[in-house]
Amino acid sequence: MRNNSFSRRLLAWYDAHGRKSLPWKSRRDPYRIWVSEIMLQQTQVATVIPYFKRFITRFPDVRTLARARLDSVLHRWTGLGYYARARNLHKAAQQIVKEHAGKFPRRFEAVAALPGVGRSTAGAILALAFGSRHPILDGNVRRVLARYHAVETPIEQRGTEVRLWQLAERHTPRARLADYTQAIMDLGATVCTRAKPQCAVCPLRLHCRARRLGTPQDFPVRIGRLPTPVKTTRMLMIHDARGRVLLQRRPPTGLWGGLWGFPECVDGNARQWCRQSLGINIQTGSPWPARRHSFSHFHLDITPIPARLVGRTTLAMENAETVWYNVRRPDQRGFSAPVKHLLEQLRGKESN
Ligand code: SF4
Repeated sequence: MRNNSFSRRLLAWYDAHGRKSLPWKSRRDPYRIWVSEIMLQQTQVATVIPYFKRFITRFPDVRTLARARLDSVLHRWTGLGYYARARNLHKAAQQIVKEHAGKFPRRFEAVAALPGVGRSTAGAILALAFGSRHPILDGNVRRVLARYHAVETPIEQRGTEVRLWQLAERHTPRARLADYTQAIMDLGATVCTRAKPQCAVCPLRLHCRARRLGTPQDFPVRIGRLPTPVKTTRMLMIHDARGRVLLQRRPPTGLWGGLWGFPECVDGNARQWCRQSLGINIQTGSPWPARRHSFSHFHLDITPIPARLVGRTTLAMENAETVWYNVRRPDQRGFSAPVKHLLEQLRGKESN
């Protein structure tokens, strides 16, 4: 069901937002699509468009390209970089003329055997030109899938590559292959971008695991760059009978050193922890939604838990490190950003 929903959402997004006016899309000509795919291997669409137009004007079909002098081909490529692409294109055109009578092959193996054409490019050409069902896995698609599934093994590992191909295969639909192929490439190029994924407008956001984790930029994982670790804590917002909330000062060194915050119980039973660590009995309410605070080397997922003091408290609890704090009368203390925000929320609730 989910696989179906992946392609369904992607196609609906493509219908509304996809790039349909690209010059190589004006007709489903495998030659034009092949040239564009080779140009797009290392270069962005906006840069490719004028080069593509000039190239196609000069070499409108595979026979013209095969007959041309290599110098002439390289000349039309000048400025586009990665010149091996142009040389391979020229060689492949001659191969098509020689081995396929000048007709662009339709068999996957024959396309993949052309110089400069790998598995993904062959799949893209056949899907875009003939609507054949072939998964693709270029850089953009790799990024989308690695994020969508939060693939945690490094992209350089062979096993990761195998897994990504399996995922690409699984998500490829049975119909609308050309649109789907263009859609997933477009999504990677325009929405799920390397530096700034725009998850808020992404059609895949609902089930995307990297978005749920809040760390899309950590994927794909590369050797030496593991995902940012995530730690968790629970902040106990313990109120006394007068509506004050218990705060403690943190140790002078370490995380948020010297700042005031709620008692934190990382795991286990919160009531028991309070009894043992603070000498008080509490009754806990429903936890508030967790929120994430990111540090340079880890994320901290905080679950705030409202609680009520049960029985009498000893004023002796109050000392230099512990205070019952009146949220309606804030004073000059240092708080970490999440604690400050929680205190503001508590204040808001009190005044309602
Ligand atoms: S939700 Fe975000 S990370 Fe996930 S695929 Fe979309 S843009 Fe990429």
